[in-house]
Amino acid sequence: MKEVILCKYGEVILKGANRSEFEAKMLKELRRRAKRIGNFKIHYAQSTVFCEPLDEDSAEAIDEMTEQAKHVFGFVGVTRAIACEKNMDTILEMVKKYIPERLKGYKSFKATAKRADKRFPLGSPEIAGEVGAAILEATGGKIKVDLHNPEIIVQVEIRESLAYIHAGQEKGAGGIPSGSSGKGLLLLSGGIDSPVAGFMMAKRGVLIEAIHFESYPYTSERAREKVLELAKVLTDYTMRMRVHIISLTKIQELIRDNCDEDYFTLLLRRYMMAISVKLAHELDCDAIITGESLGQVASQTMKAINVTNAMSDIPVYRPLIGMDKEEIIQISRKIGAYDTSILPYEDCCTVFTPRHPRTRPELEKVIEEESKLDFNALVEEAYATKYAVVVKHFGDNIIEGEGKDE
Ligand code: ATP
Ligand code: MG
Repeated sequence: MKEVILCKYGEVILKGANRSEFEAKMLKELRRRAKRIGNFKIHYAQSTVFCEPLDEDSAEAIDEMTEQAKHVFGFVGVTRAIACEKNMDTILEMVKKYIPERLKGYKSFKATAKRADKRFPLGSPEIAGEVGAAILEATGGKIKVDLHNPEIIVQVEIRESLAYIHAGQEKGAGGIPSGSSGKGLLLLSGGIDSPVAGFMMAKRGVLIEAIHFESYPYTSERAREKVLELAKVLTDYTMRMRVHIISLTKIQELIRDNCDEDYFTLLLRRYMMAISVKLAHELDCDAIITGESLGQVASQTMKAINVTNAMSDIPVYRPLIGMDKEEIIQISRKIGAYDTSILPYEDCCTVFTPRHPRTRPELEKVIEEESKLDFNALVEEAYATKYAVVVKHFGDNIIEGEGKDE
């Protein structure tokens, strides 16, 4: 029995004239992944992408390919299925052969049917009824029908040329395809919030570049590794990501030695923003993305955010702005970032922290403190420390410009 993977569209279905552009992007993403796993034929029809293994080895890698498909934005459901001729006898025969194995470990199921081909002689409820009965017969009472709260759903889809049978469709990544919303520069720290912010914007089709600020030796090499590890987690979804690393050591030391302590964090954040804006322009990014959430810390009150926001002449997206920490943690866990995020390494924001940070800063006072240093020259100097690490889903990290990047 040869299985295929069905990947079901989400809101791409609602797209009008440019739907084919979105479809092409989803196909491309899936093909990039499939290429690394085996030999698959990938095509689409009726709001579904079909991913078909073309040889034995690829058929054996179907679990791995299904896992990959679940990380491609634009699909809301992913499932393994078998295809058969569209007549009820064949369908029931295949259900009996294929489904019992798929139901192992479950106690209850429900059979459903979807009829895209309206000429099919039976209606959906009749098909579901017959399929349910066939399963009960084939499993000899090991599993029960539960129409209201089944542990697993078996579905038969009557499509244009064939019928598809599957059980246990899984959730896809949702969102809209990668690259359909432009490019954004994510301020990536080693914390919980910024990887989640990056994920949320990537899910809305934004291509992500990342910038990370460090303050070596006040921040450690392990802290940098941790950030690259978080970027790696995001590449489960984005396939690759460049992390531009910039040193703030000199700026931080000068702020510490010359400015009012209460303003340390705000000043630092304005430098971060100015440097990020510069990079965003260079990389042709349409927005900056941060993991700020209103009121979470002193530098994230409305007034404090305004002070940093004033440094940017492009939009700053803050997808977590209205979320509670618990809600953010939930997503962090879901995308597999949490365990890395909570590793205890210093971030440059946590070195030289003021004892009494300003929560209602006046911009004039911040600017006064800022004018004690040569802001523009320091931005240029820090910018010159920039180098990029290319983080890939398949394969090892490389420093841009060194080593081969396939
Ligand atoms: P996170 O959990 O993402 O570290 P946070 O709650 O600790 O966020 P802050 O340290 O105030 O909050 O940072 C707010 C945002 O600023 C972060 O979400 C991130 O987008 C950005 N940021 C903070 N530190 C850095 C850094 N070292 N490099 C790049 N961006 C940073
Ligand atoms: Mg942080």
